[in-house]
Amino acid sequence: MAEPNFEKELKRMERNGVITRAQFLQLMAVAGAFLMLGTDKAYAAKSDARGRIVIVGGGAAGISMAARLKRTLKNPDITIIDPSDRQYYQPGFTLIAGGVYGADDVWKPQEDCMPEDVKWVKDSVTLVHPVQNRVETARHGIIDYDYLVLVPGIQINWGKVEGISLETLGTGNAHSIYDHKGAQLTWPAMKEYAEKGGRGVFCDTYTKHKCGGAPKKVCLLSWDNARKNGTTDRLDMTYYTAETQLYDVPYFTTRLEEIYRERSIPIETEVRLKGIDTHAKRAYFERITTVDGQKTSTPFSEDYDFMHFMAPQSAPDFVRESGLSWTEGKLAADGWVMVDQQTLIHKTYPNIVSLGDCAGIPTSKTSAAVRKQVPIAVENLIATMEGRRPEAIYDGYAACPIVTDYGHVLLCEFDYDKNPKISFPFSLFDMSKEQWIAWILKVYILKPFYFQMMLKGRDF
Ligand SMILES: Cc1cc2nc3c(=O)[nH]c(=O)nc-3n(C[C@H](O)[C@H](O)[C@H](O)COP(=O)(O)OP(=O)(O)OC[C@H]3O[C@@H](n4cnc5c(N)ncnc54)[C@H](O)[C@@H]3O)c2cc1C
Repeated sequence: MAEPNFEKELKRMERNGVITRAQFLQLMAVAGAFLMLGTDKAYAAKSDARGRIVIVGGGAAGISMAARLKRTLKNPDITIIDPSDRQYYQPGFTLIAGGVYGADDVWKPQEDCMPEDVKWVKDSVTLVHPVQNRVETARHGIIDYDYLVLVPGIQINWGKVEGISLETLGTGNAHSIYDHKGAQLTWPAMKEYAEKGGRGVFCDTYTKHKCGGAPKKVCLLSWDNARKNGTTDRLDMTYYTAETQLYDVPYFTTRLEEIYRERSIPIETEVRLKGIDTHAKRAYFERITTVDGQKTSTPFSEDYDFMHFMAPQSAPDFVRESGLSWTEGKLAADGWVMVDQQTLIHKTYPNIVSLGDCAGIPTSKTSAAVRKQVPIAVENLIATMEGRRPEAIYDGYAACPIVTDYGHVLLCEFDYDKNPKISFPFSLFDMSKEQWIAWILKVYILKPFYFQMMLKGRDF
């Protein structure tokens, strides 16, 4: 499918009384002005600090860090190590699965995203030696650093769902949008399910994972496709979550649960996916119950016609093997990097910063969070390079635009304390409910902002 058609979309929204043509054009003009201008306030003061900076991972966090550091340092010496040919805008995977974006709408060649004069080593890091200040790579040997930006993202452990592998995604109508190809396979299957109906099984996973909203969005878009066809009476859907509730930011949870109730989609809590028999189209779960502090697990299974799942996630293995992970507390199990949650500086090695999905901090793993972490991490890294105390503080801001139907998004923005942190101009709306303006943001604005602003190290 091609890039969403503005004219068609606009007519649809006008018809539904969502927005007038004048409002829509005004909004586009404001977004365009942002794109053209940027707000490069961070770059007035340049730093003389020197040192070899190595960035492990060239995704949302890595490229944004490189671009911003380059613009802030007078004498930047920056190397990015990343094996990928492509820079993916992963939040677009949901919209591929919903038939709004095409497969090629969400990526650009990595070489086009690399900031000028930054060295790119196209390779994978296999180990960090934080005492010796060096990293080992798969094919380029040892690379020394003075300062390390550790941002290799998340590792999806597909093998932890029995019967599944990355290569077999989509087999037996068991889908996952946590992969570019997987997202593409989901759309025709979702469409078919919305027409034919049957048993739809949707679930998340028990580890911390990127974009906790994504599996909920797939469930809600599946239902909304059936609404558009007039076939919701053919659906029998359940959403299983491993958590004790559907969403843990109270300001938004009430409305989200209400939407599930309105659509007769039951939510079952503390349920973990164990495996899928794709041949028989049967999913295997365990239900966790806690009595007097003792956890017990009860297995059960379900036949399905259409299934969306996610696999357990962790920091990449080399992070733990390098001794950079939390060793105690809730974040220890999956190897997340042991950083201070306010400064994003490593707790043991002050010349290492870590942010993005691999960072062991108690907030949601989203690129919206990365957008707010980057300026803090840059400021604190430069303070460290200049021999000053790192004093910039990250408040845990993260955002998750939960697409509730074709035309509305519940834009969840919050901080470490789970307080809503509504950005202007959304504070003019009741953001505890789904809004059309957030749909416009999600579908039309965030992607160009990602490539044109965030990856260029600009504020927006
Ligand atoms: C389906 C889905 C939906 C999402 N929806 C949203 C959304 O609506 N809103 C939102 O804000 N966020 C969303 N996200 C989350 C968002 O994409 C991530 O939080 C963000 O990309 C994290 O940035 P990062 O730089 O930490 O990791 P990434 O962007 O994943 O980048 C990690 C980079 O590290 C590289 N790498 C990995 N291992 C190594 C290694 N050993 N050596 C060197 N390089 C390595 C990889 O090649 C990659 O380029 C979604 C994600 C998915 C999958």
